[in-house]
Amino acid sequence: MLTKELIWLFYSPDELAAKNKQYLWHPFTQMKDYIAEEPLIIARGEGVKLYDVQGKGYYDGFSSVWLNVHGHNVPELNQAIIEQLGKVAHSTLLGMANVPSILLAEQLIRLAPEGLTKVFYSDNGATAVEISLKMAFQYWQNRGIAGKHSFITMNNAYHGDTIGATSVGAIPLYHQVYKPLLFSPYVIPYPYPYRDGGDEASVNAMLDQLEQLLEEKASEIAAMIVEPVVQGASGMIIMPNGCLKKIAELLQAYDVLLIADEVATGFGRTGKMFACEHDGVTPDIMAVAKGITGGYLPVAATLVKESIYEAFYADYEEQKTFFHGHSFTGNPLGCAVALANLRLMEERNLVAEVAHKAEYLADLLKPLAGEPHVGEIRQKGLMAGIELVREKDKKEPYHWNERIGVRVCKRAREKGLLTRPLGNVIVFIPPLVSTLEEMSDMISILTEAIAETTRHCEEAVQ
Ligand code: PMP
Repeated sequence: MLTKELIWLFYSPDELAAKNKQYLWHPFTQMKDYIAEEPLIIARGEGVKLYDVQGKGYYDGFSSVWLNVHGHNVPELNQAIIEQLGKVAHSTLLGMANVPSILLAEQLIRLAPEGLTKVFYSDNGATAVEISLKMAFQYWQNRGIAGKHSFITMNNAYHGDTIGATSVGAIPLYHQVYKPLLFSPYVIPYPYPYRDGGDEASVNAMLDQLEQLLEEKASEIAAMIVEPVVQGASGMIIMPNGCLKKIAELLQAYDVLLIADEVATGFGRTGKMFACEHDGVTPDIMAVAKGITGGYLPVAATLVKESIYEAFYADYEEQKTFFHGHSFTGNPLGCAVALANLRLMEERNLVAEVAHKAEYLADLLKPLAGEPHVGEIRQKGLMAGIELVREKDKKEPYHWNERIGVRVCKRAREKGLLTRPLGNVIVFIPPLVSTLEEMSDMISILTEAIAETTRHCEEAVQ
């Protein structure tokens, strides 16, 4: 039998690196660059650290793309999977159920903003969004209301990489090339106070555009999709308080559904269980993924209000069924580990802890604001972005070709911290269980990496 240890004996780190380059195509990665560099190959994880095949440890400073909650190799989560594995690894939800999927749905509804009553599973953020869009679209048709065929999205939105989710995406670098393939939503700005004249001006400009659009086009708009409170992939842009509430009120007044994409913000990340809670908003449809399983297995869900569910609840002959599903929908292993994750979050009072740790993180980040090339530091809970600028006074961005974000993250990796940039914005999203000491260590590394890289970049220009 091939045990883990034997596999290690068979393949040296160099051999694994060679096989990596020969066989793998990585997401969001220019393979020409990847091939030219020493690959990072993770062998194991423990707590908030990941270890590569050479044995070097790295802080997981971006929660393995924003999803880790309790750290890696967590005994309680491992055990939940092992126990479920002894029962059944997978059985479908098409026309039948399995035990963990039922119990998890109950917990999700208990924790979700009040008024969400039904859970439709899928297996990643993009599919949870895809389902949200299709449900919103069909909802109006099932109710016999014709013509509501369009959507509203926000500038620089990111909702995943399937075609529907890409259609409501608005980051030119990722989405422009597919335009001929996509449906075209209306796009309004996401308030970006740093660049758009401060909190009030940026919010008012957005609300004015939204209201005007609704005034003219509400009868043809099914729903608006929003990344509530933090717009992640655009660079951790944060909505001023009360903004989401105003959006929700406008949409309700004009009979347009609100889809909250909580894929990145859900499960305690922003200091509330769901970001919508910051403004006391219950969306009509809510997409969740990432943190749901503590970052262990791919489970996602779309939660809806009873009124949405009811529009699909009809006699068979009426054909109002939601004809959508995935092979691994409601996977029992994933749902079992999600249940264990939520249990552990409650035992550790983790959401309240995040709010407390966020204050500490804000203090840690403060000195960075004095760095000559740090334009703005944005933070909500344990979700932070540091925007680097070439010229601080003029807020002049670094040019794309300077790869400043990439270079800072490379330096941080050399020093033992993993994260990925969003253009010129350095992401800091540690596992929610990170201790104050661990966060302090991580921010020290990040500070050094930013200072050294920006200085180097300056020297290169002189
Ligand atoms: N929505 C948001 C807000 C996200 O941040 C992401 C992923 N970063 C997605 C959707 C897509 O999720 P997934 O990668 O699981 O498809």
